[in-house]
Amino acid sequence: MTPEAIKKLAQLLAKLPSLGPRQATRIAFFLAGMPKEEVAELSSALSDVADIKRCINCFSLAAAPSGGEPRPEAGRDNLCDICANPRRDQSLVAIVEKETDLQTVEKTKSFNGRYLVLGELPKDGVLSSEHKRRLERLKNPPAKGGQASQYEEIILALSPTTYGDLNAGLLAQDLRTVAKKITRLGRGIPTGGSIEFADEETLQGALKNRN
Ligand SMILES: [Zn+2]
Repeated sequence: MTPEAIKKLAQLLAKLPSLGPRQATRIAFFLAGMPKEEVAELSSALSDVADIKRCINCFSLAAAPSGGEPRPEAGRDNLCDICANPRRDQSLVAIVEKETDLQTVEKTKSFNGRYLVLGELPKDGVLSSEHKRRLERLKNPPAKGGQASQYEEIILALSPTTYGDLNAGLLAQDLRTVAKKITRLGRGIPTGGSIEFADEETLQGALKNRN
């Protein structure tokens, strides 16, 4: 017999990416056997991440948590470090699916624009209302000299998978009027590969050879 508490925990864990019900149950039993103080630490780390806010500009989960130190350079605490940095080019935007993709691109130190974190894209090319809400954020490019303007470039930094290609085509169509140029990362990342796991040199090359 499985105790109710473990069943419930396993059900919750099974919602995590790449965890099936069997592994979730195994982890639930493992957690139940851990020293009480370690479980308490884990549970407080969990409630801390629940407090982290999304950046209001790029939707990355990187803005200061509530009660955290306000960012003086932004004048408010709901912009991430990248969006709050006046030295980043506002007319250059890279669209990524996940925060981990953003971090991988940042590590190359070859990109000085800003980002839009779109969330994991659907396999069938049908965007959710949340994807659409985030894309709306790009529909008003920063105005120059009082005139409505366009982004210089939007880079679709999506993994070169079949569904990445499908979604890139749809996004390019949707955003065609807001940017002078819409590009994708150059090949170099193997087809079917994932940006998240690309090494820095490969990704640097892919950024340089975008087309
Ligand atoms: Zn941001």
